[in-house]
Amino acid sequence: MTLFNRLGGGCLGLFLLGACADVDAPAAAISQAVAQAAANTSNEATAAKRIEADVLFLADDAREGREAGTSGYQEAADYVSARMGEIGLEPAGADGWFQQVPLRANTPVLESAEFSVMKADGDTIDLTHLEDFRVFVSADQTEMDITAPAVFVGFGVHAPDQGYDDYEGLDVKGKIVVYIGGAPDRFESEQRAHYNSRGGKADAAAKHGAIGSVSLFSIAGEKRFPWARFISNPTRTGMTWVHPDGRAEVSGAGLSGGGVTNPEISQVLFDGAEKTFAEIRAEAEAEGGSPAGFDLAVTISMKGSQTSKTVTSPNVIGLIPGSDPDLKDEYIVLSAHLDHTGINQKKIDAGEDGINNGALDNAIGVATMLEAATQLRDVAAGRSILILAVTAEEKGLLGADYFAHYPTVDSSALAADVNLDMPVVLHPFTDVIAFGAERSSLGPIVRAAAAKMDIALSPDPLPTQNLFVRSDHYRFVEKGVPSVFLVVGFADGGEEKINDFIKNHYHKPSDDTSLPILYDEAARFAEVNYLIAKDLANAEERPHWNEGDFFGELFSGK
Ligand SMILES: [Zn+2]
Repeated sequence: MTLFNRLGGGCLGLFLLGACADVDAPAAAISQAVAQAAANTSNEATAAKRIEADVLFLADDAREGREAGTSGYQEAADYVSARMGEIGLEPAGADGWFQQVPLRANTPVLESAEFSVMKADGDTIDLTHLEDFRVFVSADQTEMDITAPAVFVGFGVHAPDQGYDDYEGLDVKGKIVVYIGGAPDRFESEQRAHYNSRGGKADAAAKHGAIGSVSLFSIAGEKRFPWARFISNPTRTGMTWVHPDGRAEVSGAGLSGGGVTNPEISQVLFDGAEKTFAEIRAEAEAEGGSPAGFDLAVTISMKGSQTSKTVTSPNVIGLIPGSDPDLKDEYIVLSAHLDHTGINQKKIDAGEDGINNGALDNAIGVATMLEAATQLRDVAAGRSILILAVTAEEKGLLGADYFAHYPTVDSSALAADVNLDMPVVLHPFTDVIAFGAERSSLGPIVRAAAAKMDIALSPDPLPTQNLFVRSDHYRFVEKGVPSVFLVVGFADGGEEKINDFIKNHYHKPSDDTSLPILYDEAARFAEVNYLIAKDLANAEERPHWNEGDFFGELFSGK
């Protein structure tokens, strides 16, 4: 699960790309681990044992948190390709099992970050980096140096065809837009998540001619993700992917970049304005609330720079060929991200555990996908099935986006995506949330699969968390491919376990195999996804969006 949907800047400790690229490739360790998992594929072994063996390898400290572009990630990719071979899949990458994804890795130069606010009376206030602000240089540039009047644009959502436009009546051309996190609660969960995505907001700002943006913490956003946590890893590498023609893929092309200010000092931007920061924040939080935009009285200057290098990191792709001559040229994709967030050098320097092992995010998603593949291998399915382990999800769903743009099969042949990301299997679950299911012909198939296993389908319990746009299936949705993404639900003790995981372990070194992971539950999660994929592969009709569906209309033909 990614925190950010295509973030601008960021960084990865250079050591990860250089010094830590251990030349002693652990080929022996990999073949031993695969042999172990292979032994587990004998008929006596259980699905739970196979899943556990995969998680233990992928989330081992030796993988160093599987950050895209690192040797730890490459070891994980080698392991997954070996497992795919052992399961009996066919290689379906661009080159054997792999599809190399060219990534542009941007490392922020912390000392170059500046943010100042010129008030109407001529006074200039220089903010303090990290204490007061962070800046993000656009991923396709190395420098940002902008000064412009500021305009508050509410949530920064532009949706005129839905009867909502925060930009209406405002002139932001050549200016810096300031918006608050979130999106109007008049939109239902999945649509709201779309409007609240960083990429969507950046696109809206660029479309209206803004040159930069400043994002403000909402009350709910700050509660969920306090400032101290937001600045805890400021040297983390930001990434985007690169087209074959060398162009870097960015949201909000034309923006130089953006900033985020600490809510403690954000009132400075509203100095002399018609409303205070506290007022617009309360409006944004209120039920049905959406603060209207207005010109601010201040001019903002933002500077920042980043060093850039190109790295490659592979998606790993295996194929189960379809058995029906009329259907086998259509593909059902099972996707799960293999990467995680790597090492937090600040923690290691402080003598703490700094390896983000990502056992639940998303070693277990990959392991359950491999288990579903093991079961799919043994059934004759009409359509072909692609098993896709993607890279750089944590950098903004990049590996999936690259695959969705440049698939290793005919792009018009992608019929559906079933995504597995972060099943929090810490309690015997009795319900799941099936994001996206009811938007397409996947709905009845998902319902039937869940019913067969006595699993209830629940509505999204966390509509402000934007889960629908925060994992890889969304890149397929953006390409018009009907998709579904199952997460474990809140019923029967799930709420407490899942909230505790999000609060205390998500994207932290403690998301590791010391968590009380229930591998039998993971096996059930694999099975429901297996049933969905099998039924999609055998469905008479190719999966299609429901008539008039919001995402179907927005993205079909893209
Ligand atoms: Zn994540």
